[in-house]
Amino acid sequence: MAATVEQWMSPDPLTITPGASALEAHGMMLRHGIRHLPVVGERGQLVGILSVDDLRAALPAGTDLRAPLPASERPAASDFLVGELMSFAPETLGPGAELARAAERMAARRIGCLPIVDARGRLVGLLSETDLLHALANGLGAPAARVSPLAALVEELRAEHLALSQKLGRYHAEERRITGELGEVPTDQAERGTRREELLRTEGLEELAGRRLAALEHALERAAQGRLGACEGCGATIPVARLRALPGSTRCIDCVRAGERQGG
Ligand SMILES: [Zn+2]
Repeated sequence: MAATVEQWMSPDPLTITPGASALEAHGMMLRHGIRHLPVVGERGQLVGILSVDDLRAALPAGTDLRAPLPASERPAASDFLVGELMSFAPETLGPGAELARAAERMAARRIGCLPIVDARGRLVGLLSETDLLHALANGLGAPAARVSPLAALVEELRAEHLALSQKLGRYHAEERRITGELGEVPTDQAERGTRREELLRTEGLEELAGRRLAALEHALERAAQGRLGACEGCGATIPVARLRALPGSTRCIDCVRAGERQGG
């Protein structure tokens, strides 16, 4: 039997209303690490879709999903409504549609995400490129069980930890090599200068890599205790995107900002 959209879509996606501001939309995308927001009306009917690219068109240059908007840009961003920036009448499919048809449409129209609606036009799910990749992996023989985003992140962090410890080992070897060569005489002045620069560069990287490694260790420890991703301030779930960028995070963005306001 052919796979259907319903088997692979993400049900009950986060949504936004057409009357919400671009600033609210940006905040939601940032907090949840998502690039598309379906826009729904009062009865849950799909009225449009807002992508991060739509937002970028309205928000100050350089807007991305890595940081909140600076305070100076917030008033301008709150002037725009989601309903002004979204794409109206986006491409949709029903939950019973064949997955192959969905993939074909997304590829042909170059869309990253397809809203799934029932017969009455109400949003029931979202099919993303990532969902399609899960389906493809499954078809290619990967286990059917879909891992949670957090479990997938832990695997990712574990692999990064391993790769980074090996890399640091190589940095140390390189450092010893350069230091060893520096100690040798004779070396002319210019050559020495270059070598010193090289060493400093390596040390700068080593410090950054060392910090990342410590953060990864911390995250893996918390994962082992089942505490990774829970904010220590408010108990809310820290988005996977934030944990990927800052694996050592123990608080959500809201709690960190609240702490900064109190000067702590
Ligand atoms: Zn919090």
